[in-house]
Amino acid sequence: MPVGYGEAHLLTIPSSNGPIHILIDAGPGEGDLTLQKQLQARDIKTLNTVWISHPHPNHVDGLRMLAPGIRAQRLIWSGFEGQEASADVFPALAGQSAWRVHERQAPFRLQIGTVEFIQIHPGARSRSLHRDNLVLLVRHGQVAVLFTGDLSADFQSGVRESVQQELQRRRARLWAITWPHHGDRLSMDWQQWLKQVPFLLLSVGTNEYNLPLPDNILLSSPSLRRTDQAGVIRFESNGKQLEEKK
Ligand SMILES: [Zn+2]
Repeated sequence: MPVGYGEAHLLTIPSSNGPIHILIDAGPGEGDLTLQKQLQARDIKTLNTVWISHPHPNHVDGLRMLAPGIRAQRLIWSGFEGQEASADVFPALAGQSAWRVHERQAPFRLQIGTVEFIQIHPGARSRSLHRDNLVLLVRHGQVAVLFTGDLSADFQSGVRESVQQELQRRRARLWAITWPHHGDRLSMDWQQWLKQVPFLLLSVGTNEYNLPLPDNILLSSPSLRRTDQAGVIRFESNGKQLEEKK
C-alpha cells in the first residue's frame, strides 16, 4: 500500500468465518493516504496478526493511529529495539487489552488459515535495527513471497540461503520480494537473485535520502512495481501462481 516514505502490506486470507486480515509493517502514520484511511476504506476493524519488521518510525508509527479504532489479536516483532524511540509503541500497545504483543526470533513459524508465515531472521541480536530487521517468508501452497523490511545489505546473503532452504523443503517458488530499505544498496548476489524473481516490490515515497538509489540497474527491470508510481499494488495467489490484479 502507498504510505509515502514507509512500508505497509495487507494480506487477506479467505476463510469459512470471513476474511482474515494480516498487516506487515504499519507505515509512518502520515501523508495523504494513511494506513488508517486505507483500512477504513476496506471496512477492516480487526487484524488477526500484525508483524513489524523493526521499530523505525516509517514502519511502526502508523500503529499509534490504528490503535484506538482497530483491534489486533496479535502483534509480533523481534524484541530487538535498538535505541529507537518509536519502540515505545510496543509496551504502550501491550497495555491495551485488545492487543497481545509477542517477541519472536527465528526460527519461528505460524500457520494462519491456509497460509504459513516463516520468520527467517533475526535469530540473534546484533544491536543494529537494520541488521536485526525481521524477515518474513509467506507461503500459500507453492507460492511464496518474501518481506524484507529494511534488511541491511551485509546480512542479505545469509538470509537468501535460509530462504532457499525453506523453499526447497516446501517445494515452493518465490514469486515476489520486497526491495529492502526503499530501494537502498543491495549485496551483489541479491542484485543477481532479484533479477530472477517475477515481481520486485518497492515501497517508497518522497524522501531526503535519494532512495531508490538512481544507479541501480533493477530500476529499469520489467518486474519492478513501485508504490510511488502505481499506488496500491494488488496480487492474488491460487496456491500455484501469483497473479497481478489491476
Ligand atoms: Zn529502517
